[in-house]
Amino acid sequence: MEGDNNATWYKYRGLQVISKTDISEIASYLVDASNYKGKCEEVIFPENENEIVEIIKRANRTKVAVTISGNGTGLTGGRVPDEGIVIATDKLDKILEINPNEKYAVVQTGVLLSDFKKEIEQKKLYYPPDPTEQNCFIGATVSTNASGSKTFKYGPTRDFVLAMKIVLPTGDTLTLDRGSIKASGHVIKFVSNEGASFEFNLPDYSMPAGKHAAGYFSAENMDLIDLFIGSEGTLGIITEIKLKLLTLPENTLSSVLFFDNESDALSFISAARKISYETREENNNGIDALGLEFFDKNSLEFLREDYPLIPSDTDAAVWFEQEINADNEEILFDKWVGLIEQYNCNIENAWFASNDFERKKFQNFRHAVSWKVNEFLSKTNIRKVGTDTAVPVESFNEYYHLAKKLVSESGLDFISYGHLGNCHLHLNMLPKNDKEFLAAKTLYARICSEAVKRKGTISAEHGIGKIKREYLLDMFGEENIIKMANLKKNIDPNMILSLGNIFDKKYLIK
Ligand SMILES: Cc1cc2nc3c(=O)[nH]c(=O)nc-3n(C[C@H](O)[C@H](O)[C@H](O)COP(=O)(O)OP(=O)(O)OC[C@H]3O[C@@H](n4cnc5c(N)ncnc54)[C@H](O)[C@@H]3O)c2cc1C
Repeated sequence: MEGDNNATWYKYRGLQVISKTDISEIASYLVDASNYKGKCEEVIFPENENEIVEIIKRANRTKVAVTISGNGTGLTGGRVPDEGIVIATDKLDKILEINPNEKYAVVQTGVLLSDFKKEIEQKKLYYPPDPTEQNCFIGATVSTNASGSKTFKYGPTRDFVLAMKIVLPTGDTLTLDRGSIKASGHVIKFVSNEGASFEFNLPDYSMPAGKHAAGYFSAENMDLIDLFIGSEGTLGIITEIKLKLLTLPENTLSSVLFFDNESDALSFISAARKISYETREENNNGIDALGLEFFDKNSLEFLREDYPLIPSDTDAAVWFEQEINADNEEILFDKWVGLIEQYNCNIENAWFASNDFERKKFQNFRHAVSWKVNEFLSKTNIRKVGTDTAVPVESFNEYYHLAKKLVSESGLDFISYGHLGNCHLHLNMLPKNDKEFLAAKTLYARICSEAVKRKGTISAEHGIGKIKREYLLDMFGEENIIKMANLKKNIDPNMILSLGNIFDKKYLIK
């Protein structure tokens, strides 16, 4: 408390913890980047696991709803409370260990991703999960199974979680090492650190094969740790995480390419994706993109003011990166140029980064699109209506053209961009008033259902939170939503934690 001038000591039901109740001090916790707004009685700032345990035990006794907050960059209202109290993880911000020899790090949940990356890079270590917004807490990225531009090569956050400490919704704690507890078929059994036994059925739905972050992870004989990853704060409070690290690549080739025709950009991506998959398996010095990011003409118009060097007659752009070293950089550069030239891209207009500073500029270029959308919408005070859908490779181009046709016909303003290496589309509709907002929502539902029809997902990275529940219901059907709710009830019998995330609270009382 000393040194924290804004906080007041508040006795949360008899417990001495840092807490704020003044609306001017807690207002920022009642919203996230989606613009979804909520309310609560108080925001509590625990400084260690014991305090969280005490808060949760008391909340169980008094049946007070608890919502967990990261840094509020979420795009689905997940950290926004509808009632009760908020546990803010801001003060759990220590990097506990970085082990360069065994290549892992242990962090508290509230460590800022960007700070963590800076710290490990000084030790020549590398953590690939890179959501476009890096101003987020690592625990929250685990809770949402965040992805980013390098997910195409390295997979989502899930693939880097080696172990976790969790405070369960009952106030018991759980320490989970990957591989230590596995389901038998769809039945999972585990014992908390305090000795409480849990046994329940996992939902037996099948999940899309590609990039996917919607609803509970469930698979036959799955690892228990995977249930908590991506569970959006509904099954426990992550307090510590052990993360797998890699060796920092020597260098990275980074380029933004501009195409006169969008179809050439899409064909280029298809070709680069296919070659990357083949090369990765062969493990030779061939094209192997970290990510393939797409920007349509409307996205580029959004960016033009800040990036006047975008060529005027451009219809689409692609940003790609590949790790390189002194031995292969020339070979790889030539291979990429050879590929680029096959798809009517004017190499003279292409941007190539030759140092870290320029590479960061390209990352910012990608980041700027997402920010511009959010900035635009916060001015209109209208919520974002943006897809986070992904579909299997074989359906992607047809799906993209259909989605674009539907939105063009609607007359709504829109921009589309995305992680097309993973066939993952952010088609953002930009409604100017409430009527257009409703039209955008109708269209959004249609575009989601078209993704589901193609065995894709309605959310590949942002999760469901409170604003995408109805689409998850469409994707999995009510029977499976009830299975998710039943699973939660086994872990959270008093139904206090992160209510309203993933499915409506009503499913907990059915
Ligand atoms: C411009 C922009 C670009 C973005 N780009 C990407 C992207 O490329 N990829 C991507 O995946 N996401 C992206 N996001 C979304 C967002 O950054 C991620 O979802 C991120 O993981 C949220 O982190 P946060 O700390 O802000 O969490 P919050 O928004 O505060 O919370 C997110 C969720 O995590 C839960 N949570 C937080 N801490 C814990 C904990 N300790 N234990 C259990 N649950 C917890 C919360 O309850 C909530 O449900 C973007 C957002 C913006 C604004």
